[in-house]
Formats: sequence, structure tokens, C-alpha cells
Amino acid sequence: MKLALHWQILIALILAVLAGTLLGESATFLKVCGMVGTLFLNALKMLIVPLILAALMNGLIGGAEQGGLGRLGALTFGFYVGTGLIAILTGLFWANLLTPGVIDGQPAAPLLGLSGDAGAIVAQVQEKGAQDLWAVLVRMVPTNPVAAAANGDMLGLVTFGLLFGWALSQLPGELRSTQAAFWKGVYEAMTRLTALVMHGAPIGVFAIVTGTVAKTGMSALQPLLLFMLAVVAGLLTHALIALPLVLKLVARVPPFALHRAMAPALLTAFSTSSSNATLPLTMDCIENKAKVPRRVSGFVLPIGANINTDGSALYECVAAIFIAQAYGLDLSFGAQFTVVALALVTAVGVAGIPSASLVAIAVILSAIGLPLEGVGLILAVDRVLDMCRTALNVLGDSAATVSVARLSGEDGVFDQPALKLRS
Ligand code: ASP
Repeated sequence: MKLALHWQILIALILAVLAGTLLGESATFLKVCGMVGTLFLNALKMLIVPLILAALMNGLIGGAEQGGLGRLGALTFGFYVGTGLIAILTGLFWANLLTPGVIDGQPAAPLLGLSGDAGAIVAQVQEKGAQDLWAVLVRMVPTNPVAAAANGDMLGLVTFGLLFGWALSQLPGELRSTQAAFWKGVYEAMTRLTALVMHGAPIGVFAIVTGTVAKTGMSALQPLLLFMLAVVAGLLTHALIALPLVLKLVARVPPFALHRAMAPALLTAFSTSSSNATLPLTMDCIENKAKVPRRVSGFVLPIGANINTDGSALYECVAAIFIAQAYGLDLSFGAQFTVVALALVTAVGVAGIPSASLVAIAVILSAIGLPLEGVGLILAVDRVLDMCRTALNVLGDSAATVSVARLSGEDGVFDQPALKLRS
């Protein structure tokens, strides 16, 4: 029997802590670990550009094909942005409350084995912070999309992707269907490639964590535990307070009925870390248990699985703030705003596959001027948190579907009579 990936990674993590503690003195061993860890990170980074583009094209063309925009589209979009923003602000709240990147009043970068020169990085970020919000907006439109991709200017690439995807969705008949098939193929291929790279995750995690533990000892775990706590507290707040409130006040259904109805889908999301893989089950639960008509679920869910990712958006925000704290940065209002705005935009590009958020976090880090090595750090605990945030992604999609159905005047959702709507 093959051990599931998350168990493999958990075991790799434990072994890495042991190996780092016991063999930390061996320079050759650490050199090999350093090389393998870098190889794995390189492989992940290699996926970034095509994955972002293919995910965006699929979301946009698919969205347009499933009925275009209109009342349903506007409601869906509004709901996704609204709940996404609530999720991100919840993450911001917990990250600022628990400050996982600060240990005993000191930035945790040295404890975590982050090698970047903190002083230089602070200067770099302040330089970026000096560019006001207007400059951030200006940077959103790249002069050359190919250069944006090559230089790792992901914000520019995402903007171009959104515009290009919209334009593709407007093409007539055969032109559009050819493009749709093409991007679907690219997306499928990237999904496979990501899965392939994830096979190496236990080894990659082992190599990276061994190096960290050898360099820094177990003290590296303390800030990571607090980071995990901040993420889980945020996810629970959103799942058990924010979404139930929205369901009660906006959709006017019993606030926890959805959690019960969606249990099988939530568990599948938790075990697979993929909201895309869970989609058939999500559809089944929402249609058969929550009794949302297919007209609505068929439109809202497939789009949601690709663009509505409350859990991922929250995670991205906590991760970026955590890494900034670890480098001793007191993020200005402008920088925090950038993090929130980017989490909202990049969450659209986060594919419903395992570890897709890491790409978005890399985007945010580079936008606020932090080194990408922070992603390597988070990787050690990413899988467990991926399981949790994916479950919230699916719950968020389901809450959106129920709310949109109710606000569209559908009858019988959770056996409730239709809401009386003013037209
Ligand atoms: N694994 C998540 C999902 O499938 C995406 C992510 O946050 O990495 O929804």
C-alpha cells in the first residue's frame, strides 16, 4: 500500500528534524541537502509562469462559456470578492495579533535560518514602500508581458493574464473554442507537472528542513508553530464565524446546515488538498444535500473552484506578513494594503491543486521586495496547512453557491421557500 503524500511529508519532516540534529556537523551531508533542496525549489519556481497563465485563461474562458456575465455573474463575482476580502482581513488580524515572526521581541529570521542580510532587505523594502500606492497601481500594467514573465514581475503578468483571458472569452465561435481547448491542455499538463514535482516533496522537504535544523537547531520550530497557529485560527474564524454569519444574514438559511451538508466534500478536500479534485463531490453535495438547483451550481461552482479561494487568500496574507515580521519589517499601511490587494488578485490565479498558494506567496513577496527564500521556509509546514485551507476553499465556494441561489430567488434551497426579492 502506498503511503499518502501528506504522511510521507510528515515523516520526512520528523526525519529531517532528527537528521538535522544528529548529523548537523557533517558538511558533506549538509552540502547534498542544500543541493537537493535548491533543486526542488527550482522545480517549483519553474512551474510559476505557465501555471498562472493557464489557470487564469481557464477560469476566464470557462466562466464566460458558462453563461456569460449577467445577474448571476455579478452576484457571483461580488460574493467572491466580498468573502475573499473578509478572509484576508481575518488573516491580517491574526497575523498582527500573534506576530508569529517575532520571538521574544526579536525578528525570527536568524532563528529560522534565513540567510538574507536583514538590514539590506529592510532598506530594499523601505525603498519600495516609498513608492506610493499610485506607483503600485502603475506597476500593475506591464510594458512588456514577456519581460514581466521573465523578470518575475508576477503582478504585471497577472494583470496581463486577466486582460488576455477576458479578450479570449470575447472571440467568436471557433477561434474561442480552439483557444479554450489549447489552454485547457496547458492547464492539464501543468497540473500533471505540478503533481510530478510534488512527488519530490518529501525529499525536498527533508533536504530543506534538515539544513534549517542543522543550522539553527529546534528553535526554528517555534516561529513555525506560531505561524501555523495564526493560519489555523484565521481559517477557523472564517469557517465558524464569518461564513455562518453571511449564510444567516445574506442567504437567510440555518448557519451551520451547510457545514453538515458539505461534510464529505470538506473531508475529501482536506485529504486531497485539491479543490479541483473535490469538485465532483462538491457538486453532488450542493445539489443533493443543500438542494441548490443545477442552473446555479453548474455556473457558480466550477468558477469558484478556480477563482474563489478564501482559505488560500487568508493563508497568503498570513504568510507574507509572517515573513516580513521575521525580517524585522514593520509593514506600513501602504505595504499592508499591497499585501491585501495582491492576496485578493493572486488568489484568483491560485489553481485548485496542492501547493498552488506557494506561487502566489512568491508573487506577494517579490512585490513587496522580500526574498523568495521565505517560500522555502513555509514549505516545511505547507502540506498540513494546505489540507486545512483547501477545506475552507471548498466551504467558501459552497457558501457562495447557496447565497447566489437564494439571492437569485431559487426555491427549495435547504428546503426553504424562496426569498422575497425586490426586482
Ligand atoms: N490546494 C489549494 C486548493 O486546491 C490551493 C492552495 O492554496 O494551494 O484549493
